[in-house]
Amino acid sequence: MTAQILDGRAMGAEIKAELRSEVNHYLQVQGRPPGLVIVLVGADAASGVYSKAILRIANEVGVNARLEQLPALTSPDELRSLLLQLNNDRAVNGILVQMPLPAHLSQRMVADTITPSKDIDGISPRSAGDLFLGLPSFLPSTAAAVMEILERIQAPLEGKRAVIVGRSNVVGKPLTMMLLQKNATVTVCHSRTANLPDFTRQADVLVIAVGRPNMITADMVHPGALVIDVGINALANGSIVGDIDFASVQQVASALTPTPGGVGPLTNIMLLKQCIQAAWQQLERNQRIPGNVLHS
Ligand code: NAP
Repeated sequence: MTAQILDGRAMGAEIKAELRSEVNHYLQVQGRPPGLVIVLVGADAASGVYSKAILRIANEVGVNARLEQLPALTSPDELRSLLLQLNNDRAVNGILVQMPLPAHLSQRMVADTITPSKDIDGISPRSAGDLFLGLPSFLPSTAAAVMEILERIQAPLEGKRAVIVGRSNVVGKPLTMMLLQKNATVTVCHSRTANLPDFTRQADVLVIAVGRPNMITADMVHPGALVIDVGINALANGSIVGDIDFASVQQVASALTPTPGGVGPLTNIMLLKQCIQAAWQQLERNQRIPGNVLHS
């Protein structure tokens, strides 16, 4: 079997074109583009790279994005006060705080402070709770990217066996709820799962989000399965690979994502998509309640 390679870059280009026209529409209605602020505390190198990538995509689709870079010694009060100020700024529709934070700052404080209407990466307990309850919510962007791929290729999900390897708050858990909403039968595996291949071999749709190169080999994949590889691993030789042994899995899967060039390119685009959605929602809310002030 020769698997279809699911090209995240090509899908990303399509979505960016859709977002550009959405931003133009918003601009005509509101007179200014949607606004995004990325907060980066300290000098984490990877976060710096991600921030630049998000700013570049924002620029491509017409979202007005800026980076608020704070020193590593920023106090909890200073960070909280910046977030409250952004919550109340009507020109800011979405807020992203880059993780990891320096050790003295709490991710929970950030999640509790960003107003849910601007929580475009779905980190707040409110967003997670809404997702759990099946209510509309902002989604963690990587999980949203996986669903976007499945939707764009019109993958049948209803009644299908979906197996997710990895149960993090940003990928595995939200994806579990999203696949359940699509009426898949979902199994979640993790580091304590006994006999992992017994589960992965059952999957019609297999999603891997672990961070271990080549952990999924062809013998662990049901022939004809659809395989989405979220993992990103940098090898000693400088190359980037996913969690699946791509060459062998390609021989048995019906379709699979490459790494790089699969889920990765869509993650930041989904963040921008949710920022534009947030802008529309805030506009609608403000028009319904004249004089309404956005606050935390
Ligand atoms: P994480 O928080 O470290 O979670 C990893 C998960 O894998 C945990 O649930 C862990 O189980 C499970 N796990 C570890 N070893 C395992 C094993 N031997 N068998 C089965 N499960 C095992 O990681 P994450 O943030 O979800 O990221 C996962 C991967 O996706 C990483 O490679 C990351 O770089 C990549 N990623 C990619 C994107 C993107 O844009 N494409 C975005 C985010 C992350 P326990 O819960 O039991 O510890």
